[in-house]
Amino acid sequence: MAIKTIFEPFRIKTVEPLRITTRQERDSILKKAGYNLFSVRAEDVLIDLLTDSGTAAMSARQWAGLIDGDESYAGARSFYRFENTVKDLTGFKHIIPTHQGRAAEKILFNIMGGQGKVIPNNTHFDTTRANIEVSGAEAVDLPVKEALIPSLVKDFKGNMDITALERLLKEKGREHIPLVMMTVTNNSCAGQPASMGCIRRVSELCRSYKIPFFIDACRFAENAWFVKTREPGCKGRSVKQLAQEMFSYADGCTMSGKKDGLVNIGGFLAMNDDELAQKARNILIVTEGFPTYGGLAGRDLEAFAQGLEEVVDEDYLKYRIRSTEYVVEKLDALGVPVFKPAGGHAVYLDAKAFLPHVPPQHYPGHAIACALYLEGGIRSCEIGSVMFGKTDPATGEFQPAMLEMVRLAIPRRVYTQSHMDYVVECLAEVFAQRDKIRGMRIVWEPPILRHFTARFEPL
Ligand SMILES: *Cc1c(COP(=O)(O)O)cnc(C)c1O
Repeated sequence: MAIKTIFEPFRIKTVEPLRITTRQERDSILKKAGYNLFSVRAEDVLIDLLTDSGTAAMSARQWAGLIDGDESYAGARSFYRFENTVKDLTGFKHIIPTHQGRAAEKILFNIMGGQGKVIPNNTHFDTTRANIEVSGAEAVDLPVKEALIPSLVKDFKGNMDITALERLLKEKGREHIPLVMMTVTNNSCAGQPASMGCIRRVSELCRSYKIPFFIDACRFAENAWFVKTREPGCKGRSVKQLAQEMFSYADGCTMSGKKDGLVNIGGFLAMNDDELAQKARNILIVTEGFPTYGGLAGRDLEAFAQGLEEVVDEDYLKYRIRSTEYVVEKLDALGVPVFKPAGGHAVYLDAKAFLPHVPPQHYPGHAIACALYLEGGIRSCEIGSVMFGKTDPATGEFQPAMLEMVRLAIPRRVYTQSHMDYVVECLAEVFAQRDKIRGMRIVWEPPILRHFTARFEPL
């Protein structure tokens, strides 16, 4: 018998009860939080889809690793296990642990960034961009054009625009471009994957210009799964082999273990260049810690190493990617406008199409996120004009974000299919009532990163 059901490839050993609130309670919680879901306490959330970062459930072996971790200051066994695992996966010569991904970015751009430098990427993640800009350098996004069309179904919408990269390399040269990066999967472009072909061509181009090529590898396993299932000639190879091939095209990588490391904290910086590694370790000692722990406890390194071994398990990845696709398929069938095809780690709603009567300056994505919390206690995140829109202080003119989206990020191994069925049901209800949803207005905002703390009111 050919079994069609794709089930969670684990059973549950420890449970964490969910707290169910009433609509009336949620109404007052929302008011008190100034209609900002970042200000809502986690215990007042039923299904938390705010982020997939650091929210994974660890396995029994990872929890065992916490007890087994070696807490020696220098040369701990847990570090060597971690180093071996990362070397085996990436092939890089120098493995430098950090407390999370942005710490690896900070060290890298501290050395390679600076005034007058330009660093291209398919799309920079916000902490990557911030670390580049803090160094004085310019962060340039070069996504493919298809990435900006939510309804367009194409295999590798996370790719980099290679023609645009070539133009930039020709124009600026290696004096101004210290490195080229690619983010897999492309988090800021709806978690869409990049193809092996594109990664290879970017690598060849960088080598011809003698410019180092680094991968932002946060979701390397999810990306490799898409390559395996979508790219011609890759089906017969294992996800681990495909990941190894991908890393072989690069000179180094940054990684947040809070994504495909299946841990709640951790990251690393890796590279082949000896001189660069020496500089990185010098900074590491000042800001993170000794090179064999880098801001982590021995137990964290143990759990991280175990997580990296588990994340390339293909039964896990099949379930992981299918569970995102399952939600997208159900919403699409109900007519709810979703970003297609499904990405790896999250479902993205197209808020402009969802609420055509709410203009960008009234934050349609934010209005949907609040309505979804009120409906079912589900926490999502606006990625649109609250996050990226600007009001010109001189003219008072509003500049909207490129896209108005709501992101429902799916924590790894945490929720089951029935939780997701509940999310779909609540979203269907919000969609049915969409004509009644009004926009929002900001009543207070801080000078930067306003989405975290701004206060709102319904119009
Ligand atoms: C999360 C993330 C980072 C930063 O990692 P942290 O561990 O949150 O510091 C960098 N790049 C991408 C693509 C990410 O998703």
